[in-house]
Amino acid sequence: MSYLRPQITAMTGYVPGEQPRDQKLIKLNTNENPFPCSPGVQAAIGDACQQGLQKYPDPTALAFRVRAAELLREELPEIDADWILCGNGSDDILTILTRAFVAAGDVVRFANPSYVLYRTLAAIQGAECDVVNFQADWSLGPGFSRRQERLRLTYLANPNSPSGTVIPPAEVAALAIALPCPLVVDEAYADFAETNCLALVAQDEKVVVSRTLSKSYALAGLRFGFLVAQPQIVRELAKVKDSYNCDALSIAGATAALEDRQWFEQTRSILLATRARLYEQLQQLGFQCVPSQANFIWCQHPEHESEGLYQALKQQGILVRYMNYPDWDDGLRITVGTDEQIDAFLAVLAGLL
Ligand SMILES: *Cc1c(COP(=O)(O)O)cnc(C)c1O
Repeated sequence: MSYLRPQITAMTGYVPGEQPRDQKLIKLNTNENPFPCSPGVQAAIGDACQQGLQKYPDPTALAFRVRAAELLREELPEIDADWILCGNGSDDILTILTRAFVAAGDVVRFANPSYVLYRTLAAIQGAECDVVNFQADWSLGPGFSRRQERLRLTYLANPNSPSGTVIPPAEVAALAIALPCPLVVDEAYADFAETNCLALVAQDEKVVVSRTLSKSYALAGLRFGFLVAQPQIVRELAKVKDSYNCDALSIAGATAALEDRQWFEQTRSILLATRARLYEQLQQLGFQCVPSQANFIWCQHPEHESEGLYQALKQQGILVRYMNYPDWDDGLRITVGTDEQIDAFLAVLAGLL
């Protein structure tokens, strides 16, 4: 097909984690929340349906932004609705940011191993990637803050996937100052972490924080994410998004999700307790694990191939994520499921060792 831009034919395209429809599978491969979302979400979506869908949705999802600003004001006192831009999942947010800041021939920077979508977004723009490997202890080396000709955007997943590790906010602040370009702090998992970088947004207009309702609010199927940046940045980014990038049902559902603090706190504390238990048990089975501040754990076994374990688990109805990154050891990323799911996983795993 010769009509396409050469960058498109040359790229492979992002491959999301498997989404098998087999309901019996225990699915610990894409960091979904194992709990059903707050009942308030379904009620709000039902109400929105009742009102009919013949009208276009609010193009800026104001109701959500007002509620989110109230909630985040505790950590970022300056925030208001005009500091927030909503998206069709945070992948849409990352797309908007990349389209706004990066042209063909520009350079984007991200760490390895990390979220693989950054490379895809760069490829669509025809940009080059400056991929900086993490240090062995999952800290960022000096290469990550280096100034570079045509460097236009840096992405940092924090907590990182697949490691679940966090770069402390003070280090991220220093990084933003050192970089000659905006820094996207992708906080898809921040609700499971002890710290986050929200406060940095007020200190430095180069810092953009991205969040999602897919993980901590159990709404991966709804598709709702947002970014927090200074208003003069949000205004420009709004020009790049699709006019109606969030639909009426997702705006209603996402806004209702924020309301139910009890659901959020309860499910979060269960998942953190299960994460601690999973970590302990994996170690007892001889795995090398990285302490995680997200809803998954990255691990390897010194005597068993990760890919073989992945296959054997799958045969017994348990799906985890096998990851094989360039210049890095491969491994397994295990999503924190319910206690029952994790018990079943551990029982099968123990039988394979
Ligand atoms: C899951 C994930 C996202 C995207 O989530 P959406 O479902 O598109 O909101 C973004 N970044 C990282 C690192 C993720 O793991």
